[in-house]
Amino acid sequence: MTPRARIDVDLAAIRHNVDTLARLVAPSALMVVVKADAYGHGMLPVARAARTAGAPWLGVATIDEALALRRGGDTGRVLCWLTVPGEDYDTAVREGVDLTAYSLAEIAEIAAAAERTGVPARVQLKVDTGLSRGGAPMAAWPDLVEEACRLEGAGLVHVTGTWSHLANADEPEHPANDAQQAVFEEALAVASDAGLRPEVRHLANSAAAVLRPAARYDLVRCGIAAYGLDPAPGRTPDLGLVPAMSVVARLAMVKALRAGDSVSYGHTWTAEGDTTVGLVPLGYGEGIPRIAGNRAQVWVGGGRRRVRGRVCMDQLVVELGAEPAEAGDEVVVFGPGVHGEPTAQDWAEASDTINYEIVTRIGGRMPRRHLDGGGPT
Ligand SMILES: *Cc1c(COP(=O)(O)O)cnc(C)c1O
Repeated sequence: MTPRARIDVDLAAIRHNVDTLARLVAPSALMVVVKADAYGHGMLPVARAARTAGAPWLGVATIDEALALRRGGDTGRVLCWLTVPGEDYDTAVREGVDLTAYSLAEIAEIAAAAERTGVPARVQLKVDTGLSRGGAPMAAWPDLVEEACRLEGAGLVHVTGTWSHLANADEPEHPANDAQQAVFEEALAVASDAGLRPEVRHLANSAAAVLRPAARYDLVRCGIAAYGLDPAPGRTPDLGLVPAMSVVARLAMVKALRAGDSVSYGHTWTAEGDTTVGLVPLGYGEGIPRIAGNRAQVWVGGGRRRVRGRVCMDQLVVELGAEPAEAGDEVVVFGPGVHGEPTAQDWAEASDTINYEIVTRIGGRMPRRHLDGGGPT
């Protein structure tokens, strides 16, 4: 039985995208970012596909995510970058996870874990070059670098990287990109003068990896592009990336409406003429944005159909018009777009958001299936 609704993730697409990006950025190395359950694509299967396609690094936000990769059998380099005081640094150090330190307090906790476990901690230092989010402010950077040098001398840490993150990489002409990169250069000089010789210096996310070759340094951190979505819509050259995720449902019901009939809560849409609508058993309980009511489209019977009225918790209504359709027919909510079906990018535009949010929050009651090209893995 085909389920009511499901998420399909094509691992062949992930491998293709990772391979494409790795070739594009070479000789810089590629980190595939698999945080937030691989942007909704399923962390472990995506991680394996990324490794198979040649990603020497994986990136995650939290220690929990890094340890889940280890439990899943991943033995390669993994960087994580978001902790709060008192986290389980011991396990992360024992498991050879590369940790990021933003502050003296954080590197002290990491060093204490190294002391307890007897394993030198792999640490990367992050500098805030202007995003004003994580990372050491430039004013605190020399002290953090100096302490990292001292701890490295004491054999407690091994400084494997220095890095930062851009605020406007999806707008390549934005002056903040040059400003941030100039600050990053200063920070690298401070680290180098202090004697640090990290394996990798890195600044670029997907958008910068593609659009700003000068920001590639030794390593780029690609999330969204590995999933086949455009990191800078309208600005990215065609790299032949393939969206890996499709969301597919089946019509629960088809019914005729008369002119003047109104649809869904609040009656925000009224049929101008006699028409037919289909009931799609998906709603904001599955992560379909409620704001997409009356704005987004889906694919039924070889054509795009409009969402009519409000998106509810469990269901939404699409207008089929004169097209023949019946209960049980397939509805593609979004997919790679190759047949004309809407994409996650289309849903983002209909929902005043970015493609990242569409794929990352989709889920709810839908099972996820991993495919390899045409068939199940
Ligand atoms: C999520 C994240 C990335 C990946 O960004 P994309 O735009 O998806 O490529 C890179 N670096 C950091 C620090 C991140 O948090």
